[in-house]
Amino acid sequence: MTCPACTTAAQQVSAMFVNGCPCCMARSAARSPQYREARDAGRITHGYRLLLEGYYGAGCDLAQAHERVKAAAAVDFEAKERAE
Ligand SMILES: [Zn+2]
Repeated sequence: MTCPACTTAAQQVSAMFVNGCPCCMARSAARSPQYREARDAGRITHGYRLLLEGYYGAGCDLAQAHERVKAAAAVDFEAKERAE
């Protein structure tokens, strides 16, 4: 599940997102302060939950949505740079 914007983002810093693309959506969530807060807290925080529901709809599978966002963060070049 990658599109050209996601392929580019895996190789260099990119702020390109394709509307409606699931991997771009996950990558955009992965760059949010809410995601970082949840990651640091080691749990799905209230703000992060609201963000996930905004992306995936209220009542979505939060654990599954979080896995998608984590996977997107793992391949996001920009996130990697920030972590170093
Ligand atoms: Zn994409």
